[in-house]
Parts: sequence; C-alpha cells; structure tokens
Amino acid sequence: MSFFRLLSRNRLALAGLIVMAVVVLLALITPLLPLADPDVTNTANRFLKPFSDTAPLGTDHLGRDLLSRLMWGTRLSLAVGFTAAVVAATIGATIGVIAGFYGGRTDNLIMRGVDMLMAFPYILLALAIVAALGPGLMNALIAVAAVNIPFFARNIRGVTVGIAHKEFVDAARLSGMTNARIIVTEVVPNVIPVIVIAMSTTVGWMILETAGLSFLGLGSQPPQADLGSMLGEARSALITNPHTSVVPGAMILIIVMAINLLGDGVRDALDPRLKSGALSRPMPTTMVDRKDPVPAADATALLQLCGLQTQFHVKTRIYKAVGGVDLSVRPGECLGLIGESGSGKSVTALSIMGLVASPPGVITGGAVYYKGDDLIGAPYEVLRGLRGHRVAYIFQDPLTTLHPLYSVGDQLIEAIRAHHPVSVAEARAKALDLLKSVRIPNAESRLSNYPHEMSGGMRQRVGIAMSLANDPEVIIADEPTTALDVTVQAQILSLLDDLRRERGLAILFITHDFGVVAQLCDRVAVMYAGRIVEEGDTEAILHAPRHPYTKRLMACVPELGQGRRTLAAIPGLPPVVDRLPDGCAFADRCHKATDACRHGTIELTEESGRKIRCIAPEPLPEHEAAS
Ligand code: ADP
Ligand code: MG
Repeated sequence: MSFFRLLSRNRLALAGLIVMAVVVLLALITPLLPLADPDVTNTANRFLKPFSDTAPLGTDHLGRDLLSRLMWGTRLSLAVGFTAAVVAATIGATIGVIAGFYGGRTDNLIMRGVDMLMAFPYILLALAIVAALGPGLMNALIAVAAVNIPFFARNIRGVTVGIAHKEFVDAARLSGMTNARIIVTEVVPNVIPVIVIAMSTTVGWMILETAGLSFLGLGSQPPQADLGSMLGEARSALITNPHTSVVPGAMILIIVMAINLLGDGVRDALDPRLKSGALSRPMPTTMVDRKDPVPAADATALLQLCGLQTQFHVKTRIYKAVGGVDLSVRPGECLGLIGESGSGKSVTALSIMGLVASPPGVITGGAVYYKGDDLIGAPYEVLRGLRGHRVAYIFQDPLTTLHPLYSVGDQLIEAIRAHHPVSVAEARAKALDLLKSVRIPNAESRLSNYPHEMSGGMRQRVGIAMSLANDPEVIIADEPTTALDVTVQAQILSLLDDLRRERGLAILFITHDFGVVAQLCDRVAVMYAGRIVEEGDTEAILHAPRHPYTKRLMACVPELGQGRRTLAAIPGLPPVVDRLPDGCAFADRCHKATDACRHGTIELTEESGRKIRCIAPEPLPEHEAAS
C-alpha cells in the first residue's frame, strides 16, 4: 500500500500533516503578506491587547506588532529546526553507516568518539558549544545539530551492522563492487527509511532546543525574532501582559504537537515490518467464514477433508490456495499428496488444525472431520488439545522448527509435558525412548545436544520423535525429506513406514517426489492449483496415470538404469491462484486441451476406485480395461 494511503488512515497523523502544511505554507509566504515590519519599535503602542485596530495579536514591550513577529519568528524557528535536523541526520547517518559497514577498529574508534559526545548532559553540551562559538542563531544551529549527531550515529550504526552481513551485500561483494559502491547502492537505500523515521521524530525536539537556546539569549539576537527569543523577551511581562508569552508559546505547542503526531504516523507507515503486517499477531486459529452447508462425514475415515476451501484475503485480492479438497485417511494408512510447488499442499495441511495464519488466511468452506467431529471452527481449546497430541506435524526444515537455544532433550520434554502432566524425570525417560525409537545412536548423550550440533538427517529424526511424543493417531508430514540427501531420505522413509505399521498411524504425506510416494504411500492424491485432479491406489496411478497432469508430472522424473530418455518438462507455470481460469486449471499447459476444457466446472469423477478431474482422461491400458 502506498505510503500516503497508510499515512492518511492514521487520523492524528493526518491532522498533524494538515496543521504542519498550513504552518509551513504561512511561513513560506510571510514575506508576501501585508504585515507590519516586525522590528520597528513604537513605544507609544506598548502592550496593546490582541484584537486592537492596528495589531491583530497585540504588541510587545517595545510596541512591535506581535502577529508580524510571530510569522517571521515561526519562519526562522522552522528553518533552523529543520536545518539542524537535516545536518544532524546527514552527519550522524554517515558516521553510523561507515562505522557499521567497516566494523572492527574503524567502528571502535568512531563509536567511542560518539560515546564521548553522548557522555555530556545534552543541554550542557549545547550551552558549552554556544559559549565557545559565541551567541547567535547560526551557532545555536550548530550546537543543536552537534548534540543530536550521536543519536543518529548510534541508530544508523545498529541498522547498518545488521544489513552489512546480509546475503545481498555478500552477493554485491562477489560481483566485484567496491565498498563505496556497495554502501551507496546496497546499504544506504536500506537505511534511508530509518533515517527518515528518526528525523521525523526528532525535528520537533530540535525546534524546541533551538527555542530553548534563543530563550536564554544564546540564539537569535535582538531585534531578530524567533519563537524562543519572543518567549524570552516576554518573560518579564508574563503576569501583567500574558498575551506576549501566550502567542509564541501557543505556536511552539502547535508546531511541536503537529510534528510529533506526523512523525509517529510517518514511522508507522514507513516501518516495513508494520507495513507487511508482521507485527500484527496472527490469531490462534485460522479464521472461518463458511457460507455453504457443511458436507456430511464418512464413518470409516479417521481424518477426512470434505470440500475444504482455504483462501488468502489480501486487500482486494482473493487467493484461492485450496479450492475444495476431498481427502480421507484411515487408521494405519499412508496417503500421499503430491503436486508442484505452490499447488496448495502446505496450506491444505495447515488448514486441518487451523494453523494457517489469519489474517490473511480464511477457511471459506468445507469440513475437516477427525473421528467424526468437525475441526473447522472448533474452539481454540479443542484444537489446542489435539495439536501435537492426536494430530502431529512434521515440517520440511527441522533447523527452523527446532528452537536453536534449547537442547533437543528439553524440547522433547516440553512437547510431552504440553499434553501430559508428568514429572520432568518421566518425560525425560520418554524422550530417551523416543530418540531410540527413531534410531538415533547414543540417544542418551544426544538429549543434551543443541539442534545446530546435529546433522540434517539427525534433526529430522528429532522432528519425527517430537511428532511421536504423544502417540498421535495422525501424522501430517509436509515434505519431511525434501531437505535431506537420498540415503538419509531412504532411512527416514523406512522409519516412518515401520512406525506406521507398529503403531497403526495414519499418515498424510506431502511431497513433490513420485519416488517417495512409491516407497511409502498406499494411496496418492495429485494436487494442482488448489484442487485434487487425480486420486487412487499408488500402484494403479504409477502404473497408468490418467490425468494428463499426472502423466506429465511423472514424465519429469528421471529413472535410474532406464537408459537415456529425454525428460519432458511441463511447459509454462501453474496459474496464479487469485486469477484461476474457467474450466480446467491445467488446460493452458495441456497438449490435449480442447475448447470444452476451458468452460464451466470440471468435476472430480470416480471410476473403479480412481478419481479423475478431466473430461478426456488417458485411456486405461488394454488388459485393465478388459478386466
Ligand atoms: P505448496 O504446494 O508448495 O506447499 P502452498 O500450500 O505453500 O504450496 O501455497 C499454495 C498457494 O497459496 C500458493 O500459490 C501461494 O502463493 C498461496 N499463498 C500461501 N501463503 C499465502 C499468503 N500468506 N498470502 C497469499 N497467498 C499465499
Ligand atoms: Mg509446501
């Protein structure tokens, strides 16, 4: 969303922006206005009250027109405040970027210097600088800028240190860019938002500081007016003629309030984390907004998905990630879910336990039955009781799902104790058993290992052990072997296979690899653009795929020992799920597609145990068709 749209949604910031715009505009056009000369004294007209004929805001102790002095004073104060902010930000940010980027001794040297500046009380330092340079507006500006440099330097250094070690900076180095070029093209664009944010929140402060110095007579010199000196001159008449103080005082209040409100709004609108909504906490369960009646459950299935629809509502766009999926798993059965990356497999898996982040995720239709109870829209407590207990997940990358700062033993113990109120010692014994059951050698000593001390295959075993911690009935494994090499993958698969036979586990196994499906799954469902396009027994589908997509997908798999064969990559890309075409979503990439494929809805039809969503499926091989 554009910066201004975000900003204008914040009422207070918008008010601040409008007030500031008016003030700045007035300050800019002051020389053009028919105002009295601000510096001409007329002692006969001293202390005229506001709303008098010649002076709308009255006059001060020398009979000078207050309106005119206010306008010129505001102009000067704004100019000095903004200039000080820009100077402080430029110098401070430069120092910060250099210190943060080069690090090491440069960093140490620069930052200790900055620390020395910071060690002085703020106002004292400014006073000392002005005292050394002599009073005057220019020197006040220098003093205010100087005392604010450390603030910018520290802030920007912190941000730069984070950026200087990012991969894109390494990539720029590898491409042979000089340091100066990397700073300008890679680092600076990333710190500019931070600089603007820091500036927007300190400009008000700097205007106040300049006014403070002028108030003490160290800034603007008579007869020149700025807001601080006006206040200073009015001090002696504070009781007898309060309007002389109220006029500049009110202006300072208005300006600083407006700038701070605007600054907060700018910060909220510019901070990339706020913009992407990363700081908004997702709800504990996925939002549910079902319009159609819920389909009925099938009694034989342990876990059953009926017409599940999950969408992402991002602004005005609707991404139909899962568009009506039917799946079911019986106890002890392993169902494979296969499809290209982006076909909606993970979203399907996460929807089952209401784990899709909301917002933007919304479940808009269908049901998920676990032992006959619908989990969609179930209260959080019910889902929490099932998550990791009756239905467990194994994710792709155990390095990101395991906590880096706890030993794997502690994490296993935590997983057990989340659902069973057992003692730590008991949980520890169980954790040890779990590690042994997933065939981790030296399980005893491994309990105290941290995730980074283990290999990828070992970590994934821990992930599986954790999913088994509470003897679940269903395991949902989302590409658990994709990050592993083939030998480890084979071990993990045979481990899962054994576990399911020993414990009667139902497994929903998500993968994009037909080899894995062949090894482990009893049945397989093929997913494309959020829909199941073919489902049946693994052997039957591997032997004779009937949906053109399945067939093409299998043709992409290289076979060992089968001699040379051209791999037939599928041309094109899957459709974007916020603009799904009419008819078959695969039509654009299908060599058999006809006009009829591009109209209406193509249903999933069942034929001798096979479900196919295609109006012209591949024919069955002869001997099967005959039987
Ligand atoms: P995969 O089959 O590779 O696991 P996913 O289930 O992760 O695919 O994603 C399915 C679709 O959902 C993708 O097209 C993706 O663009 C979309 N999607 C996933 N998360 C979001 C999100 N937070 N906002 C918008 N779209 C999303
Ligand atoms: Mg995925």
